[in-house]
Amino acid sequence: GLSEKLNETFKRLRGKGRLTESDVKAGLREVRLALLEADVSYKVVKDFIAKVTDRCVGSDVLESLTPAQQIVKIVNQELTELMGGSNARIATASKGPTVVMMVGLQGAGKTTNCAKLAGLMRRQYGKRPLLVACDVYRPAAITQLQVVGQQLDIPVFEMGQGDPVQIAREALKYASDHGNDIVFLDTAGRLHIDEQLMDELKNIKESIHPHEILLVVDAMTGQDAVNAATAFDEALGIDGVLLTKLDGDARGGAALSIRAATGKPIKFVGTGEKLDMIELFHPERMASRILGMGDMLTFIEKAEQQYDEKQAKKLEEKLRKNRLTLSDYLDQLEQLQKMGDLSQIASMLPGNLGKSFDASQIDEKQMAHSKAIIQSMTVKERENPQILNASRKRRIAAGCGLEVVDVNRLLKAFEAMQQMTKAMTKGKMRGMGAMMGG
Ligand code: GDP
Ligand code: MG
Repeated sequence: GLSEKLNETFKRLRGKGRLTESDVKAGLREVRLALLEADVSYKVVKDFIAKVTDRCVGSDVLESLTPAQQIVKIVNQELTELMGGSNARIATASKGPTVVMMVGLQGAGKTTNCAKLAGLMRRQYGKRPLLVACDVYRPAAITQLQVVGQQLDIPVFEMGQGDPVQIAREALKYASDHGNDIVFLDTAGRLHIDEQLMDELKNIKESIHPHEILLVVDAMTGQDAVNAATAFDEALGIDGVLLTKLDGDARGGAALSIRAATGKPIKFVGTGEKLDMIELFHPERMASRILGMGDMLTFIEKAEQQYDEKQAKKLEEKLRKNRLTLSDYLDQLEQLQKMGDLSQIASMLPGNLGKSFDASQIDEKQMAHSKAIIQSMTVKERENPQILNASRKRRIAAGCGLEVVDVNRLLKAFEAMQQMTKAMTKGKMRGMGAMMGG
């Protein structure tokens, strides 16, 4: 992955001083390749690298991060910014039902995602959606909408193969009469953009005045997705994008290119064929995905915010001397608790790191127990856990109202953590290991 390549590039650089221009150039060469591999268009990559170079050169290498992490962090921040805000919502009507018009090429996922989005709106905002069959050319399209509507128990309005504008009008009346406060128009698509299709969509737009025109694009189609976005936006004017099929192996570079090409926000992403597989768009997650970094960056940021540099230094020192005590462990537990939802943090850690992070250690109740046990120890015991014999363990267990097995479990976890931090501080994750401490 990118992080290994970057680490390789920066092997000779220690975590001190400033990033020089040649360091940054070497590092960003890898980033550039990663972006191109992720299907970001050439021009976007070029502009982006130029911007990031400016920011990286001369920036201080933070004590807590390796130079590679530092560059990835800056790259990630810039990528996130380029993809826009994370709380893009769809517009709502001030009066009457909100009308969302779904447009896009054939096979992009309009019909499926009409239903998915309707389901999401009902689930998250308590909306009462109505789906409308405006793709009138193939009877199968109407049936498909009915099927997905039925699966989610969402009503579908159809008038067979009539005039889409007329159908949309009737559907709005129906929605008003039946208390549906959001209406999704499933429109026709073609394999390629053509004038006839655009005219029909423009016609619907001008007659119905939808509050939101949402373009559905298939993330797997790379540059074609970008071309489609540009064409639809120029001809019709779109308000946002729903990027589908992100469950595939597409790295999502299309998200970045589409945003750069049209300036329109990605609002939702489709992550699977099942009808609940839709999410709000999170630019920071997408940035990590494009870089192939898992949610590592989010973790680095969280850790940075919460961790006191001095404490990190002290801990590193202790680890070097192999003198990690239970008092440090207690500090670490408290530090981790401050970082927020622990299971969420564990899930952000990439690959093996995430796995070696024993879930029982981050269980909140377990942590409360661990704290109670350590607090029942004398200072001498905390500093020298090896003196904990059977009678001391009995006393400690009694002191905190737990059992000797609980004390043993804690000591085991402590030992495991010592092993893990040792391995981490030795490896490339120098700063991270210190920050985590468990
Ligand atoms: P339309 O022609 O634009 O209406 O596209 P459809 O809604 O018929 O979708 C085309 C195909 O893509 C269907 O087989 C869907 O199940 C599938 N599809 C839609 N969204 C997703 C997604 O997010 N992930 C995956 N894997 N498949 C999807
Ligand atoms: Mg369809």
